[in-house]
Amino acid sequence: ALTIGIVGLPNVGKSTLFNALTRAQVLAANYPFATIEPNVGVVPLPDPRLQVLADLFSSERILPATVSFVDIAGIVKGASEGEGLGNKFLANIREADAICQVTRVFADPDVVHVSGAVNPKDDIEIIATELILADLQTLEKAVPRLEKEVRAKKADAGLLAAAQEALAVLESGQTLFSGGGKIDPEYLAQLQLMTSKPFIYVFNTDDAGLADTALQDELRALVAPADAIFLDAKFESELVELEPDEAREMLADNGQDEAGLDQLARAGYHTLGLQSYLTAGPKEARAWTIHQGWTAPQAAGVIHTDFQKGFIKAEVISFDDLVAAGSVAAARAAGKARIEGKDYVMADGDVVEFRFNV
Ligand code: GDP
Repeated sequence: ALTIGIVGLPNVGKSTLFNALTRAQVLAANYPFATIEPNVGVVPLPDPRLQVLADLFSSERILPATVSFVDIAGIVKGASEGEGLGNKFLANIREADAICQVTRVFADPDVVHVSGAVNPKDDIEIIATELILADLQTLEKAVPRLEKEVRAKKADAGLLAAAQEALAVLESGQTLFSGGGKIDPEYLAQLQLMTSKPFIYVFNTDDAGLADTALQDELRALVAPADAIFLDAKFESELVELEPDEAREMLADNGQDEAGLDQLARAGYHTLGLQSYLTAGPKEARAWTIHQGWTAPQAAGVIHTDFQKGFIKAEVISFDDLVAAGSVAAARAAGKARIEGKDYVMADGDVVEFRFNV
């Protein structure tokens, strides 16, 4: 499964956020395929469509899609002293598919800030600079090697060109996620650089910050095109201890529609380029995770590899059409149930039944 690595300077609230994520974690019993590791939090992706399907099909249970967050032990100590990042830290970031930087916005005189003052912009730059430096080191080795290999016709000239373009972006002080848009994405992926991974920013905020829309707009603009989530990690960690009804009440008292962790799960899913299709029956209403752009057989393979190998066709009803019709039979009668073949590209919220040979 794809994972999002949580990084940030010391004392910004990473552990507090990660603890909240692990407490919000899905039950391992329902997800036997998920290996539960101490530094991974597998949280459910909120999807109100599942309850609607469960009601329509009288399903016994609901299985939401999940998003995995990895706590990348904060060995960023050297960062502000110019000592660079630890190797283990870098190796962990390399394994993650997206990077979530927690940044402190909350003002609390009792919690020391590593650089002496709360300044989200500086914090973001410190981490970005370290990752840029690490990528520069990687490329300074890779480019001469690729030059030789291209001369010997052992490497693709396109890959070398991508490496040189990436070098120029990094030398201009930009991450590849924000400045590398023109570089061929397949070559870029082969270079395995850290700053080409998508970023998400969590601004760990107190009540004053949650109410300060001007500050939020400023920070959103600063990190665009990355998603920005504003939450109070301490509050979130208390929220996950409550029963759903109590949690909703506490959120409402706080003037929030949705928990920060739910917003984060949604942003993470989106940032990873994922989407869901849905299945429903008397046993369960379930969301299945696929990449945007996947075809019907690829999607079937997520349920079982045999479904992909023996794929014949899929009966697809869009969620909205199914709800409007009120039942599968009514949707069929209204001509809203489509029979799709192996080239069909899945859409988010497709309600699907696969036909396959065994
Ligand atoms: P880490 O070093 O980034 O993992 O930070 P921690 O999660 O250990 O938090 C550092 C300190 O800040 C702890 O004393 C937390 O209780 C406190 N803290 C974390 N989040 C918040 C917050 O949203 N508001 C306030 N006031 N304190 C927080």
